[in-house]
Amino acid sequence: MRVHKIAAIGADGIGPEVIAAGLEVLEALSTKDGNFKLEIEHFPWSSEYYLKNGYYIPEGGLETLKKFDAIFFGAVGSQQVPDHVSLWGLRLPIAQGFDQYANVRPARVLPGVKSPLAGGEDIDWVIVRENSEGEYSGNGGRAHRGLPIEVGTEVAIFTRAGVERIHRFAFRLAQKRPAKHLTLVTKSNAQRFGMVMWDEIFAEVAKDYPDVTTDRELVDAMTTRMVLKPKTLDVVVATNLHADILSDLAAALSGSLGIAPTANLNPERQFPSMFEPIHGSAFDITGKGVANPIATFWTAVMMLEHLGEFEPAKKLMKAIEAVTANKVHTPDLGGKASTADVTKAVCEYIAASETVTA
Ligand code: NAD
Ligand code: MN
Repeated sequence: MRVHKIAAIGADGIGPEVIAAGLEVLEALSTKDGNFKLEIEHFPWSSEYYLKNGYYIPEGGLETLKKFDAIFFGAVGSQQVPDHVSLWGLRLPIAQGFDQYANVRPARVLPGVKSPLAGGEDIDWVIVRENSEGEYSGNGGRAHRGLPIEVGTEVAIFTRAGVERIHRFAFRLAQKRPAKHLTLVTKSNAQRFGMVMWDEIFAEVAKDYPDVTTDRELVDAMTTRMVLKPKTLDVVVATNLHADILSDLAAALSGSLGIAPTANLNPERQFPSMFEPIHGSAFDITGKGVANPIATFWTAVMMLEHLGEFEPAKKLMKAIEAVTANKVHTPDLGGKASTADVTKAVCEYIAASETVTA
């Protein structure tokens, strides 16, 4: 029996609801075949916890997380706390503290799900987001607050090491895909320094991966290409900010923000990686029991793959696809199912699946 230690941080809004659903299907998987077990420890870190204690992560919290094999994360963000405080209080300290520099965001239209795009079935992308520097480096400042001469700066920082490693990661990922195509997204016409450096390092790195075909797109043109020529894209690599925006678009084009997963990887495995749905805490549906748990289930698939549990990962993905194909859909996908209905359907599919002993 293989054992993996998982830190569960549901955090805010629908985060705890979808994480609970995710843990339920993971439990069903491990019970079914009995090949692996997850040891779950729950952490109460959230905006409510922050309002009570004055911090999201207690002293030594990151050190505690280090001993886990993976972090299963819900969403952070509350109407009682400014968004930049919650994001920089919980999610970014983990992602940056554990050098999770590769943020991987697959987008695909699942069976039974309708893309808002004609030709949406052509979407089969993986967006690789640089997750450790760039526009979210936290470098900037404000002077003369409130005065007419007030100045605010937001400095994007790109390092050769940071750019090269994300490009190499994206090339290696592209090599594993049937299409083996990688598109580089920058804004190097208007931004002449860091972005031109991205282009140059990409060209250097490309020489080491001759089996991967490449092209380049400016980020504004990329939005139109995603809508008008979805089939021309396979793996995409972009900066922290650009890929953040493009991947929300990708999620919407593949049917709903409620199905899009993401992995924040520390590929060298010096530190635990973090797995979370792309969506946020969704105040408008919190507590109503209608949050789509599919994004979190797909996230769990990515977590299982990272843990080396490839057979269970495949089984869970098959279960997800069977349930979406069967139109067990939450309201964001146009259906009437609840979070619990979708979770139950996935668990039942797993229970009825063939037993695998490996
Ligand atoms: P959001 O993702 O929370 O919601 C956007 C819309 O999508 C809402 O209408 C919501 O109901 C819907 N939606 C999202 N997830 C869904 C799901 N699983 N099922 C069905 N519908 C779903 O984004 P927002 O409204 O911009 O942000 C709300 C809060 O979440 C803010 O505080 C923001 O900072 C935070 N946020 C956190 C993360 C994160 O933790 N990684 C990501 C994005 C936003
Ligand atoms: Mn985002």
